[in-house]
Amino acid sequence: MSTPIITICGRPNVGKSTLFNRLTGRRKSIVSEIPGTTRDSIQTNCLWNDKSFILVDSGGIETHSDSQITQKVTDKSYESINEADHILFVVDATSGITNEDTEILRIIRKIDKEITLVINKVDNSSREENISDFFVLGLGEGINISAYHGNGIFDLMNSLEHLFSVEEVDDESIKFSIIGRPNVGKSTLFNSMIGQAKSIVSEIPGTTRDSVDSKFEYKNNDYTIVDTAGIRRKGKIGKEIEYFSVLRTIKAISESHISLLVIDSTENVTLQDQHIAGLIRESGNGCVLVMNKLDLIDKEKIKEKEIIEKLKFFPGIPLVYTSAKLKSGMSEMLKELISVNRRYRQNFSDDEIWKNILNIISSNMPPSKGKRRVYPTSAKQIGSNPPKIQIKFHNAELVHFSYKRYIENELRNIFDLRGVPLQLEISEK
Ligand code: GDP
Repeated sequence: MSTPIITICGRPNVGKSTLFNRLTGRRKSIVSEIPGTTRDSIQTNCLWNDKSFILVDSGGIETHSDSQITQKVTDKSYESINEADHILFVVDATSGITNEDTEILRIIRKIDKEITLVINKVDNSSREENISDFFVLGLGEGINISAYHGNGIFDLMNSLEHLFSVEEVDDESIKFSIIGRPNVGKSTLFNSMIGQAKSIVSEIPGTTRDSVDSKFEYKNNDYTIVDTAGIRRKGKIGKEIEYFSVLRTIKAISESHISLLVIDSTENVTLQDQHIAGLIRESGNGCVLVMNKLDLIDKEKIKEKEIIEKLKFFPGIPLVYTSAKLKSGMSEMLKELISVNRRYRQNFSDDEIWKNILNIISSNMPPSKGKRRVYPTSAKQIGSNPPKIQIKFHNAELVHFSYKRYIENELRNIFDLRGVPLQLEISEK
């Protein structure tokens, strides 16, 4: 289940955002706009023929500027190039090659990634005459598109077919990621966990560059940790800048089912922790909150209520305490991981769901409007991993968001979905 990162690069106004919107259909499931400036890179999870990938608009790469703000944006752009599995280098057919194009290409080439030349704005035949000019860039003929009109998009995506691996058969192992900001102890935790494993530790190279998953067995359960290469790699760019790769984090989350969200117990929950938790929540992963570095703080001093409050958009998130350094709390953490994984894969019978829905609704009826009564007509599970439940209502459009929230909370308690997202679909009978 590898999710390649495809990054769109190019100078301003060549049509990067138009291409981005064309490929995403403006449908964004995970969008992380890194706080800072509006020109930062943006990324989203996309589907093409049922295959998922992460698409990134690298934002502005400024080649001749030393203002601090531009430098920051540029750092982010470099991050999106660095983490990419493939780069779409976009040029503009109407203007031919500019100095800025060649300068940006020079920067991209340094990082040694696979590049596809995308010649945009080819929307009439006279423009096709100029496109051979781009041959001198040394990237082959390129692919002609009109991002605005949608021409050539199919050819472009077909040319990227090799990036998408065939979906693996689910091997029943618990597929999880270790997520968190720098220095919370992810690498140490990984090593301590692997140290506990009694059996094989194998590394499975992913289909994309430098992505490695590790498999291990512990107490008769098989585990797969995704992107262990990313955990081990100590990424620091420059001395003062703490390097945190949002992209790599999103990729690891989307390739796993459950995420261990690691937090430094001595620092409580920071804004960045909340942001990362939000990414996990939006992707539909299960989650266990790992309060690490317990050896540095008196447990009594940890304000658990405050922590839960800060992560309340993740209702019932299980919390465990560890000291990765002292290798303590490891088996409790793995136990919780197993429980969340079990809940994540739960399946319920239609009868069970229907009976509970009737109980939930009869103890707090949805408000009707005049003579238009709102009542349920059927309910069933329509998806799993994580569970997805559909409830059909007569006059479904009158079911308010807050009422949906009420049903969701009740179902969460009845079916014990701690640490697991529940997708609830309300539709017309
Ligand atoms: P990562 O950036 O999240 O992978 O963090 P590391 O695993 O590299 O840990 C960052 C620093 O915190 C290192 O100096 C670790 O030795 C230290 N560290 C990690 N876990 C613990 C812990 O449980 N207790 C203590 N005292 N230090 C820890």
